[in-house]
Amino acid sequence: METLNNQGDGKDIVLKKEERKMFYCKSCLAPSARPRIVFNSEGVCNACLHAEYKRKNTDWKKRWNEVEKLCDKYRRKDGSFDVIVPGSGGKDSSYVAWKMKHELGMHPLCITVASQMPTEIGKRNLENFIKAGFDHIMVSPDPESYRKLAKVGLIEEGQPKEPFISGITTIVVEFSIKLNIPFLMYGEQGEAEYGGSGNFDKKYFMDRAETVTYYFSGCESDRAVGKMGISDHDVKWWRFPSQEVLDKSGVLMAYWSYFEDWNPYEHYLFAKKHCGFQTLPTRSIGTYTNFAQLDDDLQDLHVYLMFLKFGFGRATSDACIDVRRGALDRKQALALVRRYDGEYPEQLIGKFVEYFRITRKEFDDVLDKFANKDVLEKVNGIWKLKFEPY
Ligand SMILES: [Zn+2]
Repeated sequence: METLNNQGDGKDIVLKKEERKMFYCKSCLAPSARPRIVFNSEGVCNACLHAEYKRKNTDWKKRWNEVEKLCDKYRRKDGSFDVIVPGSGGKDSSYVAWKMKHELGMHPLCITVASQMPTEIGKRNLENFIKAGFDHIMVSPDPESYRKLAKVGLIEEGQPKEPFISGITTIVVEFSIKLNIPFLMYGEQGEAEYGGSGNFDKKYFMDRAETVTYYFSGCESDRAVGKMGISDHDVKWWRFPSQEVLDKSGVLMAYWSYFEDWNPYEHYLFAKKHCGFQTLPTRSIGTYTNFAQLDDDLQDLHVYLMFLKFGFGRATSDACIDVRRGALDRKQALALVRRYDGEYPEQLIGKFVEYFRITRKEFDDVLDKFANKDVLEKVNGIWKLKFEPY
């Protein structure tokens, strides 16, 4: 794609050489650098196509019947727990847990895997969520094991939240097997909702191999044993049972976003009303929203590293969702992305360095190592996109 015509004025813009290294969905703003994203011949991404397909073809009533049937299959009449809803008291998991309990008549056990660097607002939201009437288990891995795994994730893959991201599967599955509650209801299937693998438009669950590929970036925590003094015991929470064991226990990892039109903003309003959900007084770093992923300071490093690796950040992710749900047009989204995307989390760097127990220089070297020099350049010591998103 060497020229572009998306400004509505009928004029083609000739793209500069560096701009051609990355292109954006013509409908939302999803960048070509997003892992596993695909575009049709008109330059529209699969998340937009999925959203359009859903709008036109999905019979949501039928899907609701499907989730009712699924719940009937697992429903327990003796009052014991019959579904696990993993979550941290954020807007999406609060929404799913509430629906499972109040509209589908299930008995959910909610499980939270502790954040690596918990925030005050995250703690408050979890407390409010539990008070709204939920049974809950908090799993807090040994902070030393957590930190060591996070450090390997940061240094080797630029993934400081790796142990949390894989833990919300492996830890929850462990409880599912031990407590004999095989039905798990997660929130959104990110590959279908946000652009990624196209395999998930038509099914409501993920198997083990898919989870490892799409959510664990293809690797498992066992690989960390022996590095930075990590022992077998350190990775105990992160051993993912084989598919055979999962099948034997009947574990089903289902995704709510198949059954209902996934709308994070509606979930925010819902959680505020029903579960005491609170937002930040100001916007989150690197974006214009204040209600998503608030429970871990490391989220700000996670999205900053996404910007360094792929050239798009948190504002792009948020704006794409808002364009697809019709709350922003592409031009408004573009203005927000140009303003906030890739913001350097200056105020948290000291905390990160302390958490990972590394020097500032070591930390900066990690950022430099992952910065994609094809599309980024350093300006006054901070990585910036070489061109404005278009
Ligand atoms: Zn798109």
